Amino acid sequence: MTTTPALQKTQLLIGGAWRDASDQGTYCDANPATGASIADVADATREDVTAAVSAARRAFDTGKWPTMAASRRAKIVYRLAQLIAERSADLALLEVRDNGKTIGTAKGELGAIVDTFEFYAGAATKNYGESLPPPLPTYLAATVREPVGVVGAIVPWNFPLLLASWKVAPALAAGCTIVLKPSSVTPLTAVELGKLALEAGVPEGVLNVVTGATREIGAWLVEHPDVDKIAFTGSTATGKVVAATAARTLKRVTLELGGKSPSVVFDDADVDAAVAGALYGVYYNAGQCCEARTRILVHDRVYDRFVSSFTEKAQRLRLGDPEDPTTQIGAITNADQYDKIKAYCEIGASEGARALFGAAPADVGAAFAAGSFWSPTAFEAEGSHRIAREEIFGPVATFIRFADEAEAIALANASEYGLAASVWCTNIARANRVARAIRCGSVAINTPYAVFPGVPFGGYKQSGYGRELGMETMRLYTETKSVLTYVGEKPMNPFGV
Ligand code: NAD
Repeated sequence: MTTTPALQKTQLLIGGAWRDASDQGTYCDANPATGASIADVADATREDVTAAVSAARRAFDTGKWPTMAASRRAKIVYRLAQLIAERSADLALLEVRDNGKTIGTAKGELGAIVDTFEFYAGAATKNYGESLPPPLPTYLAATVREPVGVVGAIVPWNFPLLLASWKVAPALAAGCTIVLKPSSVTPLTAVELGKLALEAGVPEGVLNVVTGATREIGAWLVEHPDVDKIAFTGSTATGKVVAATAARTLKRVTLELGGKSPSVVFDDADVDAAVAGALYGVYYNAGQCCEARTRILVHDRVYDRFVSSFTEKAQRLRLGDPEDPTTQIGAITNADQYDKIKAYCEIGASEGARALFGAAPADVGAAFAAGSFWSPTAFEAEGSHRIAREEIFGPVATFIRFADEAEAIALANASEYGLAASVWCTNIARANRVARAIRCGSVAINTPYAVFPGVPFGGYKQSGYGRELGMETMRLYTETKSVLTYVGEKPMNPFGV
């Protein structure tokens, strides 16, 4: 049973010191499952964001972090991973109370966060440049990878600490300094990350954390001329604004944006495994997942069997108290998102899509009457329906039939997004053929899982650009510098002076 924790008061981390917002402003952060206030959060002003950027700039331009031996930086990042592992139970509970996700989900994320910091601790010492063929016999030529500078890391509310780790870990490993801006609705674990980073030995000013109630905080970071790179995860609409604003100062930008990813179920699939995987793929984290497999494309021959088994199993998913380890689906993280899900269910019905189940708020008991819970929902839809095309970001599946492989591929690609896909099929030749034909960043064959440290993750099309989680991510936190050394016998004298 959920207990009410003491109201926490948070501050901003700027230049290694914790401080209130310059105008003492705060805002209230609530638990979406209970509606209870859980924290009084510092509401950064533009002056605070400027101070955080200045601290990061100073730490980059005059501090030791960017030029420190990579092996030393690696040890600090690894130490941070260990501290997160030691505090993972508390961090998981904090994430549950701030976000409404289930404790099981949060614990899984904490494991992945530790893995991510460990992975990039290792990457710090493998940030190789190249030895190049000499352009002239009297030259040596090489490239070195240098940190890109000050990184503005902007994260959404669905996986607050996990998505922060995808940015902070490679940025630290590369020698960058950072201003981390969590979503206003889930700021608490970012604040804890700031504390642990200082404890791990990350020098002051290298990681700054600014929280706040307004979206402007992110915009101020993107506009600031002293920020060299923006690593952004969020909606496609906001991502476009970020890219346009960042272009004014030619910042480097990585965009991890929205999705409308398919699960493609062929007639030779192991239907039970496909049902289990597709259920998880769409309802995991209450569907508030960028790579959620919300479009379930099923071959005519197995469609009825698949849909009836999916429907029967979906009714058995356990919704409710996010702190109960047996709960499988928690709360919708914020009221706006809840309203959006409700509106899309109404749009689906008005467009003629047929609701198979759900499409209504979930009653999970009096203790959570003030929380936001939505029932797992599924519609039989057509590709043209808005609910089958637009990102809902909630527990809403759409089923669409297909007759053959070509139609399956066409339907899978009939989306402005291109983040991920699952293919369910026992013919491995076909599974790989289809995987290659779907235009998206990750394809998971016979599994809903596609996200692991070390495996690049990111989008095609309107799902963004750049990749997180891979070794290639290190390139996105570095610049290439070419170093040419003249090694001729005689000094150079091009003008013969
Ligand atoms: P959002 O775009 O509203 O906000 C994301 C972050 O950007 C928040 O911290 C927000 O405060 C900030 N922000 C808002 N306006 C800004 C601006 N003009 N300039 C700079 N920053 C600004 O997204 P959200 O509602 O918090 O998150 C849900 C979205 O995130 C979904 O579309 C989802 O698909 C996407 N997402 C993508 C991935 C991925 O890896 N591709 C992962 C998780 C979530």
